[in-house]
Amino acid sequence: MILLKNCRLIPELVEGFSENRADIVIDDTSILNIAPAGKIHSFNGQIIDVMGSTVLPGFFDLHTHLYMTELNMLLLDNKNEVDTCFDTYAFSREYLRQGYTTLRDAGCPFHVTRGLMKARKRGIINVPDIITAGHALTPTESGNDEYKHLYEVADGPDEFRKAARKQLEAGNDIIKVMVTGAFLNESGDPGQTIIAEDELRSIVDVARRKGTYVMGHAHGADGIKLAIRCGLRTIEHGCFIDSEGIAMLKDRDDCFMIPTGTVSIASTDENMNALVDGASEKSHIYEEQEKACVNAAYRAGLKMGFGSDADYANFKRRPGLEFIARTDWYDFSYLDILLQATKNSAEIAGMADRKGTIKVGKASELVVIEGNPDEDIYVMRKKPRYVFFRGEIIEN
Ligand SMILES: [Zn+2]
Repeated sequence: MILLKNCRLIPELVEGFSENRADIVIDDTSILNIAPAGKIHSFNGQIIDVMGSTVLPGFFDLHTHLYMTELNMLLLDNKNEVDTCFDTYAFSREYLRQGYTTLRDAGCPFHVTRGLMKARKRGIINVPDIITAGHALTPTESGNDEYKHLYEVADGPDEFRKAARKQLEAGNDIIKVMVTGAFLNESGDPGQTIIAEDELRSIVDVARRKGTYVMGHAHGADGIKLAIRCGLRTIEHGCFIDSEGIAMLKDRDDCFMIPTGTVSIASTDENMNALVDGASEKSHIYEEQEKACVNAAYRAGLKMGFGSDADYANFKRRPGLEFIARTDWYDFSYLDILLQATKNSAEIAGMADRKGTIKVGKASELVVIEGNPDEDIYVMRKKPRYVFFRGEIIEN
């Protein structure tokens, strides 16, 4: 058991306790007690005084690719199974070091993230909880050859049905599909819908029969609306969502938008990328439109998840990048950014019973931040002082 003394709490991220200074008792799995600061007098275990630092629930990244060491698709696509495996493990550990305890892998080669989860189950590694999608499904498209190991190519409802079932057969949790073109693909047009309605519906049918759901890569307004109509649970990126799409998502509790600020910042900053030819220029052209569309969706009050599409190199060099991206690019409030990274994403991922807030009985996944991120989100640029996860204490 561990006693965390003198924790500063943010009321919106705490349940069942209303003061903003607390002492918190945890064990390897759960939060056992939250008491007013200084009120626990006898304790048999490790005591850590966090001296007024802010304590947050573990963060979510609902859109990552853990094999993505850098934004160089050609290099990534030429890696073999062994290299991909070690890179993926290293990235997942860096996520934990920065306070992320739940990740949704939006596509990887060789089902490598499934392998990580199996290794953790055997007790030989400790990595965040990873919701895995396996290979990303896509129709035949120019540019697919840049992603030979990531994509599963299919055409027509029957082939997509088979491709979706193969991901679940391999032990993955959810299905990822490319609904529109991509920025980071030389010939991709982000505004263009690349999949047909009957193809999308057959994938959703496979997922629903197995009690799971589909996440869809969708930038263009038409692709976003098609994805919502066909019953996808999450709209990834959502860069060019229009007012009609926003209205369709408003007040829905089964379909959500997951913006990914990190990849947008990284693709427009020459110091941060080594992109395929033309991708950076393409990102610049759409920059203002993306900022306006995502901000409009936010102002309409949509509940949004926390995604990043980050690569390991930029993620490691620039801690807190997604938190910063959401204020610099999308003009979200600091508190809403923190809610997106925790409570909202836990609800979207269907894990709110165990995660997303600090509450007695929930998972003992806690992040200690020096400073007050609800008043100044830029304190997230410094790695957390402590991260607690499954009995491991990580100190920075
Ligand atoms: Zn992605």
